[in-house]
Amino acid sequence: MTFRTRFAPSPTGPLHLGHAYSALLADDLAQRAGGECLLRIEDIDQSRSRPEWEAQIYDDLAWLGLAWPEPVMRQSDRLADYRAALAHLWSRGLLYSCSCNRRDIAAAASAPQEGGAPLIGPDGIVYPGTCRPAHPPSGPCPDAALRLDMARATALIAAQPMRPPLGFTEEGAGPDGETGLIDIPFDWLLSHVGDVVLGRRGMAGSYHLSVVLDDAAQGITHVVRGEDLFSATAIHVVLQRLLQLPTPVYHHHRLIRDEAGKRLAKRDDARAIATYRTEGSSRQDICALVGL
Ligand code: GLU
Repeated sequence: MTFRTRFAPSPTGPLHLGHAYSALLADDLAQRAGGECLLRIEDIDQSRSRPEWEAQIYDDLAWLGLAWPEPVMRQSDRLADYRAALAHLWSRGLLYSCSCNRRDIAAAASAPQEGGAPLIGPDGIVYPGTCRPAHPPSGPCPDAALRLDMARATALIAAQPMRPPLGFTEEGAGPDGETGLIDIPFDWLLSHVGDVVLGRRGMAGSYHLSVVLDDAAQGITHVVRGEDLFSATAIHVVLQRLLQLPTPVYHHHRLIRDEAGKRLAKRDDARAIATYRTEGSSRQDICALVGL
């Protein structure tokens, strides 16, 4: 198996030191394994993505000494694939449409019968199931917010013949040092992940759906990314099982933090790679700053 990884930034702001670390690490692991590192532009959220940020991604990465095979995959070119996957999951009774907004969800999840403070999972508040129908809806897949019915999904996976245990191999580490074979218990999926959103009105697919489809379409064998996405990997593995796609090996890495211990954000211009560039830093300076 050839090692193939990717760096998958969203063009919603300047790349910062955390992105530099992720891209340099992915490239380094690929080089050592005699494989390759692809670039993918995660511009699924068209309301926040900007062409100027995308152009700056190419500039910053080239300045860091990175190169990637062309053509670069862009999520905005793949909407038809995301819609097809949603229609497929819908036809199998695994999705339902949801009209709740954030406020509805927070209110329902913290209602007294739900036990007070809402439970936060890898995809935000665990959905309390307000719109979940008793029977799978039929008809064509609507252009609405679509949620995965996690109970049906886990039942279907449990019934798959010759199924290996649900999990993945972690070659890096999660936030609590999780490494090696990571088991994903069905009851944890139901209680701590719940019915995640896979489609949003007018946006084709959510991050979880698109990342799974894109990694498979690009033949990614190793996913290198920040440990903040470690718990979301369970959602990705569930989708891989439902869509019969291979599960790559995962390598989650530490996050680069500021002096106060806070993880860097896109609005933190002081740590933008572009700022270091204009201040005359070199690639070696960046490597030293991120501990590579
Ligand atoms: N687009 C995501 C980000 O910029 C990365 C997603 C991934 O690597 O799976 O944080």
